[in-house]
Amino acid sequence: MSRRFNFCAGPAAIPEVVLQQAREEMLDWQGHGLSVMEMSHRSPEMVGIAEQAEADLRELMGISDDYAVLFLQGGASTQFASIPLNLAAADQTADYINTGEWSKKAIKEAKRYVNVNVAASAEASNFSTIPAFDSWQLSDNAAYVHYTPNETIGGVEFFWTPEVKAPLVADMSSTILSRPVDVNQFGLIYAGAQKNIGPAGLTIVIVRRDLLGKAQGITPTMLDYKTAADNDSMYNTPPTLAWYLAGLVFKWLKGQGGLQAMEVINRRKAEKLYGYIDNSGFYRNPVEVASRSLMNVPFVLADDALDKAFLAGADEAGLLNLKGHRSVGGMRASIYNAVPEEAVDALIAYMQDFAQRNG
Ligand code: PMP
Repeated sequence: MSRRFNFCAGPAAIPEVVLQQAREEMLDWQGHGLSVMEMSHRSPEMVGIAEQAEADLRELMGISDDYAVLFLQGGASTQFASIPLNLAAADQTADYINTGEWSKKAIKEAKRYVNVNVAASAEASNFSTIPAFDSWQLSDNAAYVHYTPNETIGGVEFFWTPEVKAPLVADMSSTILSRPVDVNQFGLIYAGAQKNIGPAGLTIVIVRRDLLGKAQGITPTMLDYKTAADNDSMYNTPPTLAWYLAGLVFKWLKGQGGLQAMEVINRRKAEKLYGYIDNSGFYRNPVEVASRSLMNVPFVLADDALDKAFLAGADEAGLLNLKGHRSVGGMRASIYNAVPEEAVDALIAYMQDFAQRNG
């Protein structure tokens, strides 16, 4: 077996030791004679796995008891609907910040359930910047303010947290667990699991408890956060295997030294890659320097006619999934927590070699 370096934006790389442990426990979880997949979600074993995962996530992120942590299904995309349904009445206004493709999807869905005020947009810069806070046109009585701290496709990241009156809602799908955040600044944080948490199929919502219980009447039972909160995310059958694997990733993160340690590593990886791109004279990243994502690094080649050869050569060099999102083209290297620094070094070495041969 030879595992290669995986730069996929999601489903993304998973720490190898996590996969090894999962393999060891696959047929017989800790001597109980069955796999996690085969356990009743209401068995003491699975409830224990679930509770431990939640406790470890709370510890990693410093989540207080004022917040419920929900383990859901449906991906971040389902949250685009759940958020307005749970946090706003149909005649209320919610403020949205448009910083790219994922913001736009969140806005489009929210419009079905609330009045949306796009308080700021980076469209004029082709989404290569983050609108300065003093330009935001926030509503007086917004039910909440939604933003996307890291745009996975554009590679644009906030390195500051907006200070707003209304509950702040953040789509952290592609930045969660990459560095510390102060959860107390947020009303709600959500993330699909398939980047920094674990395999696809699990969605995490961290929501301040005082925001629960106000869902619109049309809200499906399964999308009402209160249903999940009141039932420890086991109102119906949860994605038990993904929950277990997320728990293994949380343990791994704790072993790495937690989110402060991850930030140091993630900054080093990103600085190396952007540093090389900027000095290469061959590759280019379009994002303003202060807003460059630590997790998703889009770049283009000097001549897009070379894209195919670049990708084919990368594949041969053991560097997988570097093709940019289908909506923007070019390349994108996603360098989440589980992508080791050696992967970034190998990518830079390949990029150097390719530029020399084709420059
Ligand atoms: N928001 C962001 C920032 C994302 O990167 C993604 C997935 N790439 C989504 C939302 C949608 O997530 P899901 O596929 O889990 O619905």
